[in-house]
Amino acid sequence: MNVLVLNAGSSTLKAKLIDTEKPEKPEPLLSMTVERIGTDGVTHESAVATVLASAASSTHRVDAVGHRVVHGGERFMGATLIDASVEAAIDACSQLAPLHNPPNLAGIRAARSALPNVPHVAVFDTAFHARLPRRAKTYAIDAAVAEKHGIRRYGFHGTSHGYVAELAAKHLGRPLADLRIVSLHLGNGASACAIELGHSTETSMGLTPLDGLVMGTRSGDIDPGALIALLRAGMSVDELDTLLGKKSGLAGLSGVGPDLRDIERRAAEGDDRCRLAINVFSHRVRKYVGAYAAAMGGLDAVILTAGIGENSASMRQRILQRFDFLGLVLDDDRNTDGKVTHERPVAEISGETSRVRALVVKTNEELAIARQTVTVLAQLAPPASAPVIPIAVSARHLHLDRDTFARLFGQDATPTRYKDISQPGQYACEEKVNLIGPRGRIDGVRLLGPLRPKTQVEVSRTDEFKLGIDAPIRDSGQVAGSAPIVLEGPKGTVSIPEGLICAKRHVHMHTEDAKRFGVKDGDEIEVAITGGPRDLVFGDVLVRVSDRYKLEMHIDTDEANAAELDSGKDGDLVYTGVDMAKAEVREKRIVS
Ligand code: ADP
Repeated sequence: MNVLVLNAGSSTLKAKLIDTEKPEKPEPLLSMTVERIGTDGVTHESAVATVLASAASSTHRVDAVGHRVVHGGERFMGATLIDASVEAAIDACSQLAPLHNPPNLAGIRAARSALPNVPHVAVFDTAFHARLPRRAKTYAIDAAVAEKHGIRRYGFHGTSHGYVAELAAKHLGRPLADLRIVSLHLGNGASACAIELGHSTETSMGLTPLDGLVMGTRSGDIDPGALIALLRAGMSVDELDTLLGKKSGLAGLSGVGPDLRDIERRAAEGDDRCRLAINVFSHRVRKYVGAYAAAMGGLDAVILTAGIGENSASMRQRILQRFDFLGLVLDDDRNTDGKVTHERPVAEISGETSRVRALVVKTNEELAIARQTVTVLAQLAPPASAPVIPIAVSARHLHLDRDTFARLFGQDATPTRYKDISQPGQYACEEKVNLIGPRGRIDGVRLLGPLRPKTQVEVSRTDEFKLGIDAPIRDSGQVAGSAPIVLEGPKGTVSIPEGLICAKRHVHMHTEDAKRFGVKDGDEIEVAITGGPRDLVFGDVLVRVSDRYKLEMHIDTDEANAAELDSGKDGDLVYTGVDMAKAEVREKRIVS
């Protein structure tokens, strides 16, 4: 498929036409930049027309268009097919990225009207960071003010960080989800990203791309008190904006401009401002590497990418030297030789004995955008938006056979429907039963209907302690040889020799869901709970597939508490349909 990748800025339109079926030939079919948009009558419409005319004369088809969009706000967790509502949502994110989203959107509108019959996909710089944990995305200011003004960390360069991380994992021969990586995108814009479980868990750019590392013309980290001092000294907001965005960073420090090549040359000639600029830049990056290794509790690889990361061996050496204490040993010869090309995009620059691997990786944001465009069009989930599994938290409950029901509630009684529950045909009943164990009792345990061939009582580990009974972990229906329990109802008491179990956590899936997740009945998978206050990964989750099932994971109250999911009222069956639980199938393990 030929994907036209458009990156529409305020004054330039960068375009690349990429054949996504030829990974061995990553050079674009067409590459052009239209400059001076906004002057001499050049508009985004005319710039798009120039690009399309050039594509037409090259005789290459355009099958789809992938648009780079800087800010996806809270809404976009991954790349998305563009329609009117997506355009409106991108517009709504403009206040978060006033310099970037409006021109991105102008490019989208111009291209959609020029090419109305091909699909257009938006790929967001923020998407890879969409699941930053709360501790990483929250700024420590008055929570109400932060909420009102939407002040939080979003992170940028996500397309690049995600792309180089995939290449690094491939090079290391390990699943990305198993690696702890610090990715350093060092170009005109620069950011660091901590990558765990295959996605960003911390990143240096914040609400805007001004935060974090020293950049070509941007300051990165600065004491907010300094901004207040400058404002108090009479600087206007616009002047401050220009200072931090255009007159700072390498350019502001060195006085010679934003390009590191010029600064390195002048530094070699003895220019002190240029030497300081280099030192401030590398010192800041080193701080982030150390901080992110600490935040992740370990480190497997460091990636350097973009103009500076890919090309400046001396900057790489300054950044990575004396990291032996972290387990990273730079190999100076490999570093000096560390060239990367589109054909050979990864170069290893750590030594043989280095436990932490240092890799130079050539980024290719356009190729990443083209691939994500294809993925969206193939209707597969984009990498940053894992499918969400709703979670239901089951409080203790029981199923009764006809005979036991009659002995507990009377010969003529029938179960009374209290409310339907989510799995089709099942319902909670008005009837409740007391459980009596050797150590203690639990009253008011809800009956679920309809009646079943075998009595089954499902409790949590905590309940077992209270009762004084050790019950086995079992799949529903597998009660043979399980624990005994005494049941007490209004009309009688029944001691059952087996039937008490601790339910094995499981996911119900419709056949179509199973296809989408690539799993089958009986598989065991891992499900990650992310985005909440106590994220964790549940292993040994049984998959149960049937056309009668609705997608839903069932866990008990202990498991819900461990992940800080809302477990609702005690003694009832609770369905949370939890939005905070961004459950995802992280890895599947098949048990034979
Ligand atoms: P952008 O963020 O605009 O995509 P790039 O990733 O292309 O930027 O990085 C551009 C920057 O990379 C240049 O401004 C320059 O500072 C730096 N750079 C490129 N090549 C070299 C080199 N050989 N040595 C040092 N710095 C370089």
